[in-house]
Amino acid sequence: MTVELPETNVATDEKVKSAPAPPDQARADQIAEDVYCPACAYNLRTLTSNHCPECGLDIAFIRSAESHLPWMHRDKVGPVRAYLMTVWMVVFRTKHFCLEMSRPVDEVEARRFRRVTITLAFAPFLLFTLVLRFLRPDAFDAFVGFGGYTFAVAAHAAILAAILTVTVVPYYVIRHPDIALDRQRRAAALTLYCPAPLSLTGVAGALAIAGIACANVRNRDWDLALYTAAVGVFLILAAVTIFDVQRVIRWMLGGARRSWPIILRLYCFGGFAAFLCLVGFPAAVAFVMIVVHSLS
Ligand SMILES: [Zn+2]
Repeated sequence: MTVELPETNVATDEKVKSAPAPPDQARADQIAEDVYCPACAYNLRTLTSNHCPECGLDIAFIRSAESHLPWMHRDKVGPVRAYLMTVWMVVFRTKHFCLEMSRPVDEVEARRFRRVTITLAFAPFLLFTLVLRFLRPDAFDAFVGFGGYTFAVAAHAAILAAILTVTVVPYYVIRHPDIALDRQRRAAALTLYCPAPLSLTGVAGALAIAGIACANVRNRDWDLALYTAAVGVFLILAAVTIFDVQRVIRWMLGGARRSWPIILRLYCFGGFAAFLCLVGFPAAVAFVMIVVHSLS
C-alpha cells in the first residue's frame, strides 16, 4: 500500500514538501509501485523509509504514485482549469513537472493533452487568415498570390503538419541505452506535455489581428509593430517549449550523463521536419500548380 500524500493539489506542492509523513506511518508502509528517486533514478519499490537508500534524498514528497499533473485531476478541478494549471506547471514549475518522471505517467492522457494544445496552437493561424480575408481582401490576395484559395489551404496544411510533427519529435528522440526503459517511457510521455506554451499562440494571433484592424484605419506604423510583436510572441513560446523539452531530457539522464547527443538529434530531426513541412510541402504544391497552370 502506498502512503497518500497529505495533499494531492499541485498548487500546494511546497506544503507537501515541508510536511513529510510521520516516521511511524512511513515505516509501516512499503512503496507498492515503481517510483524512482528524482536525484539518482534508484527504484524505490518496496522501500519503507523516507530516504533513498542510494543517495539519501528525503523522498517523503514522492512516495505516492498518484500523478501531480493537474490534467490528471480534471474530474475534480474541471477540464479548463486543469488544462490551464498544467500549462502553468509546465512553464513555471518545470522542476515539479519533471518530478513526475518518478511516478507512472499516463501516456493516453498525455496524448489527449497534446491534442488540445495543438488545436489551440493552430486555431489562431486559421482565424488570422479568415479575418484578413474579410477585413483586408487586398492584403489576402497579395498573400495567397496566383495560387488563390488552393495555396491558402496548402499553407495552413503546412503549418498544421509542422506543429504536429515538430512537437512529436522529442517523444521519439528521448532515448538513452543507459536509462531504465520505464524511465525513458515516462520521459517520452512527459514530452507530450512540453508544447503547452504553444497553447498561448492566441496571444500572438490577437496581436496580428489587431495589426489588421490598425491597417484598416491606415495607421501603417502600428500594424507593422503589431505583426512583429505577434511573431516575437510566437518565437518566445517556441523557445520556452524547447527549453522545457531540454529540461526533461536532462532530468531523465540525471547526474553526469551528457545530454548533447539527444539534444543534437532533437534539433536535427525537428529542423528537418519543420523544413519539410514549411518549405518542401508548399514548394511542391507551388510546383504542381505552375505545371497545371502552364498546361491549361
Ligand atoms: Zn536517490
